[in-house]
Amino acid sequence: MKRFTYVRAVSIDQAIESLSVHPDAKLLAGGTNLVDLMKYDVATPTTIIDINDLPLREISETADGGLRIGALVTNSDVAVHPSVARHYPLLASAILAGASAQLRNAATVAGNLMQRTRCSYFYDVLTPCNKRAPGSGCPARPGLNRNHAILGASELCVATHPSDMCVALAAIGATIIVQGPNGLRAIPLADFHRLPGDAPEKDTTLFGNEVILGIELPPVLEHHRYSYLKIRDRLSYAFAIVSAAVWLTIDDEAAISTAQIALGGVAHKPWRNTAAEALLIGRPASRVNFEQFASMLLSGAVALSENDFKIDLARRTVVRALEQAASRTPQSQSDKRIH
Ligand SMILES: Cc1cc2nc3c(=O)[nH]c(=O)nc-3n(C[C@H](O)[C@H](O)[C@H](O)COP(=O)(O)OP(=O)(O)OC[C@H]3O[C@@H](n4cnc5c(N)ncnc54)[C@H](O)[C@@H]3O)c2cc1C
Repeated sequence: MKRFTYVRAVSIDQAIESLSVHPDAKLLAGGTNLVDLMKYDVATPTTIIDINDLPLREISETADGGLRIGALVTNSDVAVHPSVARHYPLLASAILAGASAQLRNAATVAGNLMQRTRCSYFYDVLTPCNKRAPGSGCPARPGLNRNHAILGASELCVATHPSDMCVALAAIGATIIVQGPNGLRAIPLADFHRLPGDAPEKDTTLFGNEVILGIELPPVLEHHRYSYLKIRDRLSYAFAIVSAAVWLTIDDEAAISTAQIALGGVAHKPWRNTAAEALLIGRPASRVNFEQFASMLLSGAVALSENDFKIDLARRTVVRALEQAASRTPQSQSDKRIH
């Protein structure tokens, strides 16, 4: 680990000011990703700004009946909060599918949004990686790419976004509230994470001197059906190979009235296709419609040398998650068997 200066921010303005003065500084929240990256010399900030004293640990209702969750609320506290469990069970389920209890107790909302890819080349400073060292190359393309992207990748990067929480937030339609030197900004989650394009070193659209204050969830007007289905190599404590977050309403005539579906583990950001979702509206919640939707969602998928299996796996995962949601039998995160 390289030497760094440690600063403990006493106000949001001070954190923003420190980020502006030290462009290579990093904010420290739970530390469960940043400190690992520093130990491996993947992240080498010269200044660490500890934000744990900032007043960002509240969960409260918004004026329109939605929910605002502070950036420093731990993943565990989000998952067990009564309003989340009652109105946004999809979010609770996705969080509980991730990491371990100890990690969730330390990890924060903002840290989870900002966590970096798990591509092994990104973590290995002895190999090239366009995300870590722009212009150095992408060994994953010809190399070990079983867990890599099948959608939205670029020539320069085939890494995936590892978060479970963000997949649920994408399906729910969350907004990220950030503050920078010019004031507040609200960024829809769909616009927060980026595809790699020709700048894979940038994961998000957050500016270097902005601080995430929290997230806002839209009001839940109807009782949504949901499921978060995560497919992984082990039943717990493993990142998703593929995951699906389904947020659905079905009317009295058994037709789908709203459908918001996101995939995880397949791209540089949680993956949604709103045109495909629109085709589900007004249709019966049947397997044939779910299969058509899944085919459209995966229509642009391109496999790498080792991950052809992910395309069919993703298709089947989304169909299964839609069936679980429609039948009100969401995937359990304590009994992880998939029925
Ligand atoms: C062994 C292991 C297994 C894991 N398994 C999973 C899993 O299955 N699913 C999953 O989703 N995650 C998993 N994780 C990742 C874990 O969820 C993240 O490490 C965690 O969410 C990061 O949160 P943090 O508060 O510790 O962030 P930190 O490590 O403190 O920070 C991470 C990044 O966020 C930035 N940041 C923090 N707060 C702010 C803010 N307010 N504004 C702007 N930037 C900010 C930091 O500067 C840093 O760049 C796992 C992690 C480990 C170590």
